[in-house]
Amino acid sequence: MSKVRHVLGISGGKDSAALAIYMKQNYPDLDIEYYTSDTGKELDETYQLIDNLEIFLGKKILRLTGANNSPELPFDHFIKMYGGYLPSSNARWCTKKLKLEPFENFVGNDPVVSYVGIRGDEDREGYISKKSNIQSIFPFRKNIWSEDVINKFLANSNITSVIEIYSSFSLTEKAERIIEILNTKISTSFNQQQKLNQLLDLGIKEFNKAIFQFIKNTNYPLSSEQTFALVENEDVLVREDIFSILEKSGVGVPAYYKEVEFEVNGKKSTYARSRSGCFFCFYQQKIEWVWLYEQHPELFAKAMEYEKDGYTWIQDEPLTELIKPERIEGIKEEYIKRSESKKSKIQSPYLLDILADAEEEGCASCFI
Ligand code: SF4
Repeated sequence: MSKVRHVLGISGGKDSAALAIYMKQNYPDLDIEYYTSDTGKELDETYQLIDNLEIFLGKKILRLTGANNSPELPFDHFIKMYGGYLPSSNARWCTKKLKLEPFENFVGNDPVVSYVGIRGDEDREGYISKKSNIQSIFPFRKNIWSEDVINKFLANSNITSVIEIYSSFSLTEKAERIIEILNTKISTSFNQQQKLNQLLDLGIKEFNKAIFQFIKNTNYPLSSEQTFALVENEDVLVREDIFSILEKSGVGVPAYYKEVEFEVNGKKSTYARSRSGCFFCFYQQKIEWVWLYEQHPELFAKAMEYEKDGYTWIQDEPLTELIKPERIEGIKEEYIKRSESKKSKIQSPYLLDILADAEEEGCASCFI
């Protein structure tokens, strides 16, 4: 097998940026290739973040584009190919053409470990690629391994071999309990997640060591590595940690997160954008469209230009309707109402966290 490559994709969002910083600070010996898949339609603030990161990392962040030899920006190249058909959550040709395919071409058939910035307080898998030569690792989570690895490791059919691996470690007083859990089959009364949590609770390092040993008999990229530094990783990083990493490193929080004040019918509030990605991304919330209209009118006008032949970014609401004064007022009022009911529940210095619900939606390659 050829040498394992270690790669980390920078989406322009806070979590992947923080992960790049974290990896440099904690695993300086890993030779990580950084890349970003550029749609050509990101906000300037995102490009600025990438520039700042390059300075911090002291390394180039490779720009991948889906349309290498096209005179047009990548998104424009493909929208022409799709006859003006705008992408949507049900027809996400944009992530396929502008994110996944360029990434898969970049790694080719090499064995690759891809580091993904899903946080310890998130409940999502972050699908990146199904190619078997790409193995995802999640350093911010308690469980750093991808779902497919866990499925194999905890499969009832592998109980004996996993017990053998664990038994070769010196587990001291925990041994009995660990073996008991390992021996318990996954069933309707004891699901895989419960088994995983219980094993992690009894020792993250032991769990990691066991998996690393287990995958030696598989084709995963890490099977050919003698050592893997992240086996020792016990960190669990949540939202506040991400902001703190960005601020302390000097790279800074992406500027689109900055709260901007607005007033509607005598009520004051703030808005911002909750994530990276194309300025016209169909995943953004209505209040974010209003933010774009008021804070980046030139970009909003460009987003409007794509709405032709009946195609709209938001289902059943063309942007020409959304910017009617009474509609903007309604969106802001609704947003304030929603924010107030949630604010009491969230103990974060970032008011923007009230937008966080929607953050979970979307694709890993664009927003992490
Ligand atoms: S940010 Fe949104 S529009 Fe841009 S590629 Fe990703 S999903 Fe598509």
